[in-house]
Amino acid sequence: METAENAAPAAVIVAIDGPSGTGKSSTSKAVAAQLGLSYLDTGAQYRAITWWMVHNGIDLTDPGAIADAAGKPGIVSGTDPLAPTITVDGADVSGPIRTTEVTSKVSAVSAVPEVRTRITELQRWIAESAEKGIVVEGRDIGTTVLPDADLKIFLTASPEARAARRSGELKGADVKATQEALIKRDAADSSRKTSPLAKADDAVEVDTTELTLQQVIECVVTLVEEKRAEK
Ligand code: C5P
Repeated sequence: METAENAAPAAVIVAIDGPSGTGKSSTSKAVAAQLGLSYLDTGAQYRAITWWMVHNGIDLTDPGAIADAAGKPGIVSGTDPLAPTITVDGADVSGPIRTTEVTSKVSAVSAVPEVRTRITELQRWIAESAEKGIVVEGRDIGTTVLPDADLKIFLTASPEARAARRSGELKGADVKATQEALIKRDAADSSRKTSPLAKADDAVEVDTTELTLQQVIECVVTLVEEKRAEK
């Protein structure tokens, strides 16, 4: 017989948003792994569609051309937090989506409404299919993709801390150039018309500037456990 003591924890949906370099991916993966949840990197999906458009010679200065091509690539995300995957038409693109070229072009592609509609549908379907629950990270998860998420977190950090972290990831990168590129991408992502990067009214804001990754993970795990206990 299933009692309150031995019942499996209720599925919980966690939305983690924020600009680049705030530790979103590392935090989301670790929290999902620790709590036995699935994990979805929505930035990787926008990068994958951008990679396909670059690879197929789509004119990325033409939003009409981007909209026409938005439905063509087949994008599949693997949601194991210990080994997340991303494929386009069956090909592993986890490396190619991280190039400077894709990073510099992704904001133009992700601003096109037809691209967002398509990727948002995919994200909702993945979240609904996650039996034990999921941590979904991005820019508009709490505001647009999953407005009924059980817990919404908005991670922030100073521009200096964000650039330093990203330069560390991109071994040997120039911190100043990285900071300028980050600020430019965040400005584009925050000012676009369709579901911009924004904090949901009911999101918990965590400023990670002075925190270690471990401290951020512990803070989010505690918040998820509190939500689970309420369910
Ligand atoms: O998280 P990451 O830096 O990989 O995201 C790459 C880009 O994908 C962002 O700069 C943004 O343009 C787009 N993105 C988005 N909405 C999301 C996640 C990412 O528009 N939910």
